[in-house]
Amino acid sequence: MSGGSRAPAAVLLAAAIAMMAAEASPARAEALPTAAELKQLSARLAPVDLTADLARLSPAERAALARLVRAAELMDTLFMRQAWAGNETLLLQLAQDSSPLGRERLHAFRQNKGPWLRLDGDRPFLPGVGEKPAAGTFYPADATKADLEAWMKGLAGPARASASGFFTTIRRGPDGKVAIVPYGVEYQPELARAAALLREAAARTEQPTLRAYLEARAAAFLSNDYYASDVAWMKLESSIEPTIGPYETYEDGWFSAKAAFEAFVTVRDDAETAKLERFARELQELEDHLPIDPKLRNPKLGAMAPIRVVNSIFGAGDANRGVQTAAFNLPNDEKIEREMGTKRVMLKNVQEAKFRVVLQPIAKIAIAAADRRDVRFEAFFSHILMHELMHGLGPHEVAPGTTVRGALQESHGAIEEAKADISGLWALGYLIDKGVLDKGFERAAYTTFLASAFRSIRFGLKEAHGRGIALQLNTLLDAGGVVVGKDGTFSVDVAKMKGAVAALTTELMTLQASGDRAKAAELLRARAQIRPPVQRVLDRLKGVPVDIEPRFVTAEKLLLEDAR
Ligand code: ZN
Repeated sequence: MSGGSRAPAAVLLAAAIAMMAAEASPARAEALPTAAELKQLSARLAPVDLTADLARLSPAERAALARLVRAAELMDTLFMRQAWAGNETLLLQLAQDSSPLGRERLHAFRQNKGPWLRLDGDRPFLPGVGEKPAAGTFYPADATKADLEAWMKGLAGPARASASGFFTTIRRGPDGKVAIVPYGVEYQPELARAAALLREAAARTEQPTLRAYLEARAAAFLSNDYYASDVAWMKLESSIEPTIGPYETYEDGWFSAKAAFEAFVTVRDDAETAKLERFARELQELEDHLPIDPKLRNPKLGAMAPIRVVNSIFGAGDANRGVQTAAFNLPNDEKIEREMGTKRVMLKNVQEAKFRVVLQPIAKIAIAAADRRDVRFEAFFSHILMHELMHGLGPHEVAPGTTVRGALQESHGAIEEAKADISGLWALGYLIDKGVLDKGFERAAYTTFLASAFRSIRFGLKEAHGRGIALQLNTLLDAGGVVVGKDGTFSVDVAKMKGAVAALTTELMTLQASGDRAKAAELLRARAQIRPPVQRVLDRLKGVPVDIEPRFVTAEKLLLEDAR
């Protein structure tokens, strides 16, 4: 909308650094981690080589892909600037410090995209940086949240929409007045370079939907109108599946309004895409056989939201900080969501790395020795796919016009996640009985699910997935489907598990159909708990990494090849 006037970047940076210095009073200085301590903290994100097979891409597609990686690198720069004004200067300083402490600090900085530990409530690990700014650099450094609320109230409709939109920053002009600055202006140099790289990639690829997305997104970087490029992204049917631009709003802790830059450069996984299609063909039959009152089944499922299974070769910005994203749903634009839904993208090689580095070590501690060989990636990933599909099955309305979400309110998230998990297991069992999946898969599916339950509960019960998993684990323990051995390890009783999985599917879906909010809250209160045998296993998981730190080795090779 309004272009607004804009203080030169250097002035803004100087102001931000002056503020930083003022905040860093000695009285507030906490003990900062030493080199050894920082090394240990960083080791919670275990380094892994992230690879993907590019053999089936033609030279033209590889050249396009290399340009996408270069464009994605620019998203790192922009993301760091959005998170804090001092980040870019600080990174340059750290890169020149070759002391052991300096090297650990640089490593931690790269993991966290700033001087605050994201796994520890944003605790600073460098001197003089103060607290992490709650709303990044999206708003004037001297403005409070209340100032901005008051200012926005005074704006007319379209200006207010622009001020609270995803793709504008709010700045103070030379006259001291607050103004709206489009991202296309605020981040002009980097976005112009990224747009040029996307156009170069578009000129090389032979895939029409990819070309359309890249051209539309390049135009959006300059025009600040992202709608057409989001539509083109929804329609991608390509061996290369990129996602690049401003998307998630987590860095704006004030209004969750401003989108942070990120990029996922990925290639389609053909084998898993075929498996997904095979599962998708079974969905109506699964719905018709859900273990619930036949009246609650949906005789005609609607069109499925698109799902893509891909392998990541490069992540940047908001897509590569702290804990790694393994799947995402975009776009966040509500207009597109209403018109065409959202697309779910699952990063298979990221899931595989998490499985290897986090889940298998967890299984070594949590699962009975004889059953550990049943913890398998194929079972893990099949269940993740089925979980996503099962969100679309079962009752979604309590009565015409009243959704389950609206009826269950604060309990909905945990109940819905538990439903997708447990009915996903039920569905895998159904497909095994039908012969779509082989019989040997059953034990692996159950045991892998059990191991992954400990991974989810480790993140705590505040979050919907963790609560949903605790509810399931306790129900399965009570039913004898899961048993605790004398040595404290867990295992499944396959015969009892099957009935217990079906019974919990019945219970949760029937509860959702009833819309009984009090009953849902009571169910979570009673069963979404961490019981002593589970806690004893959790206590023993302290040394297991929390997540991964990817090294993008396939992208590095690709860039070398492209430079030749
Ligand atoms: Zn889910």
